[in-house]
Amino acid sequence: MTEKTQVQERTVRQVVVVGAGMAGVQTAVALREQGFTGGVTLIGAEPHQPYDRPPLSKAVLLGKAEGSAFDLDFEALGIDLRLGREALGVRPGDHELDTAAGPVPYDALVIATGAEPIRLPGAEGVPGVHLLRTLDDAERLRPVLAQQHDIVVVGAGWIGAEFATAAREAGCVVTVIEAADRPLAGALPAEVAAPMAAWYADSGATLRTHARVERVEPGAVVLDDGSRVPAGAVVVGIGARPATAWLSGSGIELGAHREVVADDHLRTSVPDVYA
Ligand SMILES: Cc1cc2nc3c(=O)[nH]c(=O)nc-3n(C[C@H](O)[C@H](O)[C@H](O)COP(=O)(O)OP(=O)(O)OC[C@H]3O[C@@H](n4cnc5c(N)ncnc54)[C@H](O)[C@@H]3O)c2cc1C
Repeated sequence: MTEKTQVQERTVRQVVVVGAGMAGVQTAVALREQGFTGGVTLIGAEPHQPYDRPPLSKAVLLGKAEGSAFDLDFEALGIDLRLGREALGVRPGDHELDTAAGPVPYDALVIATGAEPIRLPGAEGVPGVHLLRTLDDAERLRPVLAQQHDIVVVGAGWIGAEFATAAREAGCVVTVIEAADRPLAGALPAEVAAPMAAWYADSGATLRTHARVERVEPGAVVLDDGSRVPAGAVVVGIGARPATAWLSGSGIELGAHREVVADDHLRTSVPDVYA
């Protein structure tokens, strides 16, 4: 073994991946598929077996599937899966990750903590106001659909469109409130997004554009033009932002949208940390 190989072996003994969503799981699996024989630890904040999110707003929400866990045997792959464990910070100088259960040493660290939903200002903690990002969110929303409430969806993005369609399928009265002049305004150019307004009409949902939520009251959403929309439940789908608050103070460079800055080899600004 050459001296260089020995150094490489020593430096990549232990890979720690933070975030057990699609990106984190695929990273851990790919390390094994590509023959990495060192330790692989996969740390995720959620308590559930790692799962895929797209079915949450479709089959899981409508009760057609119980869950969407990845069909993987982590133990057989030699992946040390640590669930229900939130990463609280990184100390690159010590090559250590901090978690509530204590520090975790790494030789290489992969950040795959994805995104977290943006909350509606003033509506946090208000009963009947929901997000749709996690399996727990989908499970909380299932009975809401089953009870056929009047539902207000805030935001006509992808989540809003999918939830509105599912809620209509479940027989709910659905009103979608969108601040822009059309659905998916932040994601797609007007000529591409404009026809998607038809999704709402086709499903029987009411789409109100140029409308902003002023406040959420028990049983109603009040818009900035003073109108009140009955709401047995409110689902907020106004976007997501990188889940990077836990990296503050680590020295890992973040960009204008608080995203981790990485180069074309996925290296961050800090040695041995990838994203
Ligand atoms: C309801 C829904 C439907 C969707 N449908 C589609 C679709 O049809 N098609 C499509 O292409 N995309 C869809 N998406 C988007 C897709 O799911 C995301 O692009 C994908 O989840 C991104 O994967 P990720 O691993 O990068 O991040 P995430 O899925 O966000 O996973 C990150 C994980 O890291 C964990 N984490 C965060 N912070 C910490 C911390 N400090 N410590 C430990 N763990 C932490 C989180 O709990 C989470 O489990 C949908 C998303 C949602 C929510």
